[in-house]
Amino acid sequence: MITRISKKPEIVFRFLKAPDSEAPAGQEVALRLSIHVPSKNMHLCSDVLLLDRSLWDDESVQRLEELTLKILKLVEAMEESERRAPPSTMEPIWDNESLEKLQELTVKIGKLQEAREECERRAPPLTMEQPIRRLSEAELQQKSVAYREWSRHTEIAEMAFRRGVAEKQALEAQVRRLSLEQGSSACKEWQEQNTIIGDAFRDKCNEKILLEARMGSDCIPHLSLRAIFLRNQKADERSYILYRGAVWCSDRDLNAEQWQTLADRYLDQQDAELASALGESKPGSSRERIAPEVRRAVWIRDKGKCARCDSRERLEYDHIVPLSRGGSNTERNIELLCENCNRSKSDRVE
Ligand SMILES: [Zn+2]
Repeated sequence: MITRISKKPEIVFRFLKAPDSEAPAGQEVALRLSIHVPSKNMHLCSDVLLLDRSLWDDESVQRLEELTLKILKLVEAMEESERRAPPSTMEPIWDNESLEKLQELTVKIGKLQEAREECERRAPPLTMEQPIRRLSEAELQQKSVAYREWSRHTEIAEMAFRRGVAEKQALEAQVRRLSLEQGSSACKEWQEQNTIIGDAFRDKCNEKILLEARMGSDCIPHLSLRAIFLRNQKADERSYILYRGAVWCSDRDLNAEQWQTLADRYLDQQDAELASALGESKPGSSRERIAPEVRRAVWIRDKGKCARCDSRERLEYDHIVPLSRGGSNTERNIELLCENCNRSKSDRVE
């Protein structure tokens, strides 16, 4: 009915900002699991899980919350920065003073152009017409004076016109150059700012990934106590859970209790088969296994920590009154102890 498809899946922990709508704010930490089963190239993910904050030390949880908020803010800052990006091609930017000057010059050039054309119209004949009569020296003299005068005027008008045009071109060039400088400094400034935001974002993300990995490994024992429903990224009709560190699959829709019972039985059967294959069924070991419900209850009560030293390493379920002295397999008689405390306890007892 169920199959174990991976004994040791790769689990990535994504801690989320606790949803605001959740009632006891700050009492829980929200996270989502991404699970990869390399042998089947399968990607599964969980819904948002809410875990008790006391599974971790306050410092880690606070740092996680700080990082989550910071990353959110940096994402906003990056989007904002994207909107403020300077255009890649720069149109000249005309300030008021330059614009006024441009208009003045345009009018002036128009007038100079007219003056030049007017001059052209008033030109005296360059070659004297075939005279009806010979002109006197004085008349010729007068003509050439008029011509020289006209020529001088024309030259002045032409020069004035050209100066006007040159002045306008210089103004345009200057505005374009200033605009480019302004644009490229804006561009540089923007790029620098963008780099700072991007670097900060990467730093915080890396720090969060490391923290997530550490906090994730802290809560794995806790997570393996209950069935966590998973969704396959490539939607299929089977259902999946993570339970006792393994990924399980079934063609049927089961509730958490059913999953756990079936998986526990599967593992127990395997243990029993192995034991009988190896001839290990010792007659003296009347020690029953501690029931999974009892393990769960003890784990939750002791918050996944050693009852004596708060350590989260190498935890064992220990009978307060040993079975050999009549202790029972009930929640009340079992506590979580780390290997060290358990050993030093039995040293004292025995
Ligand atoms: Zn301990």
